[in-house]
Amino acid sequence: MTARRDEILKELGLTPVWRLRTPSAAPAEVPASGSADDPPALRNPVVAQSQAREPEAIRGLPKVVPLDARATGIAQLEWPQLKESVAACVACPLHAERNKTVFGVGDEAAEWLFVGEGPGAEEDEKGEPFVGQAGKLLDNMLAAINLKRGKNVYIANIVKCRPPGNRNPETAEAARCEPYLHRQIALIKPKLIVALGKVAAVNLLKRDAPVASMRGKLHAYQGIPLIVTYHPAYLLRSLPEKAKAWADLCFAVETMHGLQSGKAAPI
Ligand code: SF4
Repeated sequence: MTARRDEILKELGLTPVWRLRTPSAAPAEVPASGSADDPPALRNPVVAQSQAREPEAIRGLPKVVPLDARATGIAQLEWPQLKESVAACVACPLHAERNKTVFGVGDEAAEWLFVGEGPGAEEDEKGEPFVGQAGKLLDNMLAAINLKRGKNVYIANIVKCRPPGNRNPETAEAARCEPYLHRQIALIKPKLIVALGKVAAVNLLKRDAPVASMRGKLHAYQGIPLIVTYHPAYLLRSLPEKAKAWADLCFAVETMHGLQSGKAAPI
């Protein structure tokens, strides 16, 4: 482990607990599965988890949600038009009090996509997701797994405009904004999505459950592997959960290694 990572983990208050495991190590809460008699996909632990541990949640959902006319139009947009459309959007009440829309930031061909909830006050001022203390923690979490904002990483939110008072976005607001995130994901084509916090997880997975019950498993968003962990803002308030978040990041790294090596079949 490098001195830089030690510094990061120390800042996160996670040493000596947070240690990036080797790619071959199985996540602690997920037993390795598969045998020589299994189909190839099931011999891979990542795929085995997706099929053996979470199939009912995924199989119960349509892979492609039917789109209305507005969503169909958004689904045709390329990056420049998509950005213009978001900047001018008045499709839900959140537009009324925003200063800036927060489109998302990062590598538009990233393998990693991190999705949060919605802009806070600082994000609304700057027009960029995850600035301020939560953003700093997210950047440190990324650095701890050798990632960097903007480099093979894209960061977006469920809604592009700040909910007043930093409340959670309402279901209808998230639904109106969803086509934008859909299109971003279609354009980025990430290998792995990391849902940061309950709002992101619930809206992406269409399933209301606590983060504690969704983390540690491999889910899917329209065929793209998805992992759930805690929102950095929550981690700032709940220090004991940091070790769990680190375990989630290790699981994500391990999953990504499987995807990059081609050993994990699409979900
Ligand atoms: Fe439009 Fe999304 Fe902003 Fe609502 S939150 S006004 S749908 S960009």
